[in-house]
Amino acid sequence: MEKKTIRDMDVRGKRVFVRVDFNVPLDGTTITDDTRIRAALPTIQELRAKGARIILASHLGRPKGKVDPALSLRPIGKRLEQLVGTPVIFSEESIGPVAQAHVEKLQPGDVLLLENVRFHPGEEKNDQDLAAAFASLADVYVNDAFGTAHRAHATTEGIAHLLPGVAGMLMERELKVMGEALTHPERPFTAIIGGAKVSDKIGVIEHLLAKVDRLLIGGGMANTFLAAKGYELGASLVETDRMDVARSLMEKAQQAGKELLLPVDLVLATAFAADAQARIGSVHDVQAHEMALDIGPETSRLYAQAVITSKTVIWNGPMGVFEMERFAAGTNTVAQAMAEVHGVTIIGGGDSVAAIEKAGLAERMTHISTGGGASLEFLEGKILPGVAVLQPMDGVSKA
Ligand code: ADP
Ligand code: MG
Repeated sequence: MEKKTIRDMDVRGKRVFVRVDFNVPLDGTTITDDTRIRAALPTIQELRAKGARIILASHLGRPKGKVDPALSLRPIGKRLEQLVGTPVIFSEESIGPVAQAHVEKLQPGDVLLLENVRFHPGEEKNDQDLAAAFASLADVYVNDAFGTAHRAHATTEGIAHLLPGVAGMLMERELKVMGEALTHPERPFTAIIGGAKVSDKIGVIEHLLAKVDRLLIGGGMANTFLAAKGYELGASLVETDRMDVARSLMEKAQQAGKELLLPVDLVLATAFAADAQARIGSVHDVQAHEMALDIGPETSRLYAQAVITSKTVIWNGPMGVFEMERFAAGTNTVAQAMAEVHGVTIIGGGDSVAAIEKAGLAERMTHISTGGGASLEFLEGKILPGVAVLQPMDGVSKA
């Protein structure tokens, strides 16, 4: 269901509690990648332009309900200040009198950043009292933290029962691009699923199989499908307890007339190591001591062909152990093909996004999801609790 956004709500002069995802990688107090902070800028700028009093809240890392100075949001406030070009006031407490006092001083357009909300044990427990303490700071709630929307926490779910809640612009874009691909894709519609294990992705494969025209399987999980077809995979990662699931997914694909592509050749290594000896071999010819760490060049060519001739492509999970140069070719070839698609290209999943960024192709995708786990759950067709609580669009035209 379509959700109201900050554009559907009058926020002028109002205190707006914005849940963002500022869970950025840190090296000490240095932010090594500020993508997530940048991703929240459209919402912050829009709210500033409308004269809202902005209260930003986020988690950082896993402090497990205790104050951990190493996980303070203070350095993030500094970076945000440079990016928005306006002072960002920092509140060393996220609730209570200290936070209240900061909020009371806010003028329209001012930006306040609260300390790490996970310093409170009630955050991840979705504690009602904590949610009420956050809610008491504001008049309106905005969720722009797509990456945390699959969790029902006090600042992602509980608070939205106490304040009118709408989606921020990043959240809106995530739901729109991925939602449209799933509901009315331009065809051919192809999904590429990879990564280490079938067990992590059964839900995604099942849900996408019903929607797509083609399903390309790569990465470690392809081994389990190949093993289910009777191939010998040597020392490769194979989930023997998932061979039945793999078999039934292949049957479903066949019955539904979907193309399900599996590797025809593999990059075979003698050890799981960056400098391991490797050769290209057919799926018919894997020796007992060998392990498949990437799809082979013929498979890459076939997959790239399937991708380039599609109008909508969703990719989750690398084609091989892309972290090691020797086993990155399959992932890179598919990434390059994604970049050449005349249509919609969507990347979801933490490692897949890292692979696309490493290949320098991020700019050439239609959409790179900011949510790893959240995008996976979305692609599984699950309702994200942080989205479910937001106000539905009432059907009245926005004009
Ligand atoms: P994402 O984060 O995009 O959802 P996953 O976490 O499911 O992706 O999978 C990524 C991991 O899968 C990577 O660390 C990669 O090294 C691993 N992987 C890919 N192919 C293989 C393989 N053939 N054998 C073992 N591990 C693999
Ligand atoms: Mg991952």
